[in-house]
Amino acid sequence: MNHIEVPVLIAGGGGCGLSLSIFLSGIGVRSLVVERNPATTDHPRAHILNQRTMEIFRQHGLADEVYRQGTPAALMERISFRTSLGGDGPLDRRLIGNLDGYGGGALRQRYEADSACRATNLPLMQLEPLLSSVAEQRAPGGVRFHHELVSFEQDAEGVTSRVRDHASGDHARGADYTVRSRYLIAADGGKTVGRALGIGMDGPRRLRKMVNTYFSADLSQWIDDDGVLLFYFINPDGQGQWAGGGLVKTGPTRWDRHSESWVFMRELSADDPEVIDESNVVARMRDLLRLPDFNPVVHKIGRWDVEGVVARRYRAGRIFLAGDAAHRHPPVSALGLNTAFGDAHNLAWKLALVLSGKAPDALLDSYEAERAPVGARVSEWALNGFRMRSLIDQAIGLVPGQTEANRQAFERLYADTPGGATARAILAEAMHIQRIGPQAHDMEIGYRYERGALVPDGTTAPERDPMAGIYHPITRPGSRLPHAVLEREGRRVGTHDLVGPGGFTLFCSRAAWRRAAASAAKQAGVRIDTVLIRGQGGHGGDRGGNLGGNYRDIDGAWTRLRQVGAGGAVLVRPDAHVAWRTMEMPSDPAAALVAALMSVLQR
Ligand SMILES: Cc1cc2nc3c(=O)[nH]c(=O)nc-3n(C[C@H](O)[C@H](O)[C@H](O)COP(=O)(O)OP(=O)(O)OC[C@H]3O[C@@H](n4cnc5c(N)ncnc54)[C@H](O)[C@@H]3O)c2cc1C
Repeated sequence: MNHIEVPVLIAGGGGCGLSLSIFLSGIGVRSLVVERNPATTDHPRAHILNQRTMEIFRQHGLADEVYRQGTPAALMERISFRTSLGGDGPLDRRLIGNLDGYGGGALRQRYEADSACRATNLPLMQLEPLLSSVAEQRAPGGVRFHHELVSFEQDAEGVTSRVRDHASGDHARGADYTVRSRYLIAADGGKTVGRALGIGMDGPRRLRKMVNTYFSADLSQWIDDDGVLLFYFINPDGQGQWAGGGLVKTGPTRWDRHSESWVFMRELSADDPEVIDESNVVARMRDLLRLPDFNPVVHKIGRWDVEGVVARRYRAGRIFLAGDAAHRHPPVSALGLNTAFGDAHNLAWKLALVLSGKAPDALLDSYEAERAPVGARVSEWALNGFRMRSLIDQAIGLVPGQTEANRQAFERLYADTPGGATARAILAEAMHIQRIGPQAHDMEIGYRYERGALVPDGTTAPERDPMAGIYHPITRPGSRLPHAVLEREGRRVGTHDLVGPGGFTLFCSRAAWRRAAASAAKQAGVRIDTVLIRGQGGHGGDRGGNLGGNYRDIDGAWTRLRQVGAGGAVLVRPDAHVAWRTMEMPSDPAAALVAALMSVLQR
């Protein structure tokens, strides 16, 4: 049997596994991705890539291509709730409500102030091939499709896995080989490794059964608003939000009303036949959209269960769970794949430091300490958002199965009567709370770590907006580095662009820190780039390396956001989270930095 040795084996070549491969290659760590399917996904699935994901992608040189292929900002400004797409009856094509989303419309200014990257939309079906080809470019031979992890065993030094190559050997069985790795990452969507390890998942399951239909059709004559990314339909026959269905444009080259393809998702109600095929799916879409002559080319029908589950453990010895393997929840705020990228990004730099011998294995414990609370919070959040959807049905007064009563409820909603005005006011309240879905700005970019690879500074965590609409930038250890625009030699650059994936970055304003950082980097054996920021009137020279150097705080944003004194400093990890900060210059800044690094690296 063939045998391979590789530092990191990644089981699963979905978004999580492929991105981890790219992040590891970017910092010089070899990995092997094995994916049991013969190719990347043929269903659009995930859509929205939030600002934090795009920051991470930018750090690894992926953002430009994702933006190039993805939806332009003006074409993903809002979600819209309607009664139907077609039809000419009195209740057809009526607007129930619009909601700005994903940094569009009235949200734009706030989102732009908080990050250099805007959110975009690129269905997983287009994103995975992009990730796969970049992963392959950066680690030739490092991604193997149609190879399945079939078993594994770990010991004190590593993991020995058995992988089946379905494409060769005896066709019925494939050919097996073994892989010896220091670590195994389960990016398998929860299908294999966690189950084999007996790691339970807590939380509600099978909340709804959904069916997604991916199709091509020209819907342009029915779409009157190019800025809508996602339509939801609620009508007397649909019996509410999910059964009424949702329609999302999936491009791939046009993102306006001429989008060539679409996904229609709806709940699989009890009276739907168990066997879903093209004929009944299309018939149901015709009913719900009120398009009797609608003739789509159906590419794929996918079924999925709405659930909200999180793994009890993210680590078992030398094995780590990431992405959907660790948390699965409703897609209401589009946090599934985005959180998977966050997991991979968190894990990559830690694996690199441990594998290079610069940090002990204990550093990897911080992965669970940091990411498990994020996964749990995101899951709880998405379940809230999911539940809130039914408030729209209730506000309108819909009763499952009572088509005539539901019709009357809609007539009341649009009636020019005092009762109609009240119904609309109630609906507006129910609509307002739906912001929990597409306006979860703090949930997207504001997650913070309370413990892990960081040095707490004794301050109390400032409160977060319980509705997650407002993100408060802070430099408290564990938080994401605030975004500010700096200038160097006439060129503007965001703080996140100065954080390299393979080392630490020190943000400070006194030159003494540069010497201290050089000395500390030498003593600790890690890279530290120093970003020396002068005030608004300051003068930037150029004595730094690629990332480090002297910068000018052009509009005073960094000075407002840094939360440390002029002599203080903020040490940022490779994943752009703050590791340590000091309010003022300590008497021996190099020693203070070394002590902080030792603590962060668990040395
Ligand atoms: C309708 C819908 C809409 C969504 N919209 C969004 C959105 O807008 N934004 C967002 O962030 N998220 C969204 N999500 C969630 C998102 O799709 C998932 O969270 C994300 O794709 C998970 O990625 P992953 O790589 O962790 O897991 P997966 O994509 O499940 O990948 C795991 C891979 O592991 C492979 N595998 C399993 N076992 C083995 C094995 N033994 N050996 C080898 N390979 C194996 C599988 O074949 C699979 O390819 C949505 C989900 C749904 C259902």
